[in-house]
Amino acid sequence: MKIDTKLGHLGRASNGQATGVSPPLVRTSTVVFPSLAAFKESYTTPVFEALRYGRSGTSTSFELQKAMADIENAETCIATASGLSAIVAVLGSHAGPGKHILVSEGVYGLTQKFCEQELVNQGTKVSYFGPNENIKDLIKPETSLVYIEVPSSIRMELFDIERICSEAKTHKIPVACDSTWGTPIFFKPHSFGIDISIHAATKYINGHSDTMLGLITGSYEAMNPVRDWCDRFGSHAAPDSCWLTLRGLRTLSVRMERHQESTMAVVSWLSERPEIKKIFYPPLSKNKGNDYYLWQKYFTGAAGPFTVELEPCNEQQFEGFINGLNLFGLGTSWGGFESLVMPAIPHHLRAEKHMPDEGRLVRFHVGLEDADDLCRDIEGALKNLGAG
Ligand SMILES: *Cc1c(COP(=O)(O)O)cnc(C)c1O
Repeated sequence: MKIDTKLGHLGRASNGQATGVSPPLVRTSTVVFPSLAAFKESYTTPVFEALRYGRSGTSTSFELQKAMADIENAETCIATASGLSAIVAVLGSHAGPGKHILVSEGVYGLTQKFCEQELVNQGTKVSYFGPNENIKDLIKPETSLVYIEVPSSIRMELFDIERICSEAKTHKIPVACDSTWGTPIFFKPHSFGIDISIHAATKYINGHSDTMLGLITGSYEAMNPVRDWCDRFGSHAAPDSCWLTLRGLRTLSVRMERHQESTMAVVSWLSERPEIKKIFYPPLSKNKGNDYYLWQKYFTGAAGPFTVELEPCNEQQFEGFINGLNLFGLGTSWGGFESLVMPAIPHHLRAEKHMPDEGRLVRFHVGLEDADDLCRDIEGALKNLGAG
């Protein structure tokens, strides 16, 4: 079956004899067993795959996990409370005093914060590598994980995934990837050699900005330490969030098609505007650099978030621009049906009180609204910049 068919048909087995199209939402803390044999039996299945106790999940979470494992072409999937809890589980389960983790530059801000303020403090060495660095020179005997995010947050840089994976493989080091931007529709991490793939399903997979969820996929072998971590730390997802996400999954493919079409239209229009200095968006063919080549190599489509650098402006003009946008909500996150905008402050500048007047970055997310309406909205707000 093709993915569009799977999205509609997977994750419906727990319907039983009923004719409802959607599986039931099953919530519980305690599970009661009919016999001691049944009780014992439940502990022979890996945690998060069988009914034992609320933390191990219910049929609702199992349905979502199985559907996700199928479309990601992975053996197993674990749902966690948020994208961040999934990231923490993957990093945390490979960390420890004396160990070393290699992380790609420009990862999601809180991923970097966890590395710096938790892992490093507890004795794990963390080092970062850029898109043009060969990890061969950075791998140490104690390296326990290579962690990447593609494209990187904000500046949207791409990494040569297959080169990284083959290098890591020769040293038997697992590679984990934050695959959120690409979604399972446009990006197939495991086919490039990624061992553990992470999605902030809060974004596109749920797609309706009404719940938080993380999804992690991989082989049983690669996922074993992650599973143990999630079990120990209570990182499980609520069945309600799994149910909503399973509902979102049905329309993922058609939503992504529209996000792609509208984003391309808005980005092309913006790239002609004099107020815009630079657009960080690998699929923009005008940029035709290495990132465009790598995007074509690893992705089959383009999602909605992108970053622009404005021509120099002062704080008042900047405020006028952001406040002048009516269709773009001012807020973090992305992946929902709504368009969003956010001042994007690169991680290393976040601590500085005063941003320089040049190089202001703005992150947009193009939602499912009409692209012409969105361009008109930006056009009105750009007038407040007084540039161009
Ligand atoms: C939002 C996001 C996360 C965090 O996900 P939450 O569900 O908000 O915790 C992680 N990685 C990327 C790339 C994200 O965009």
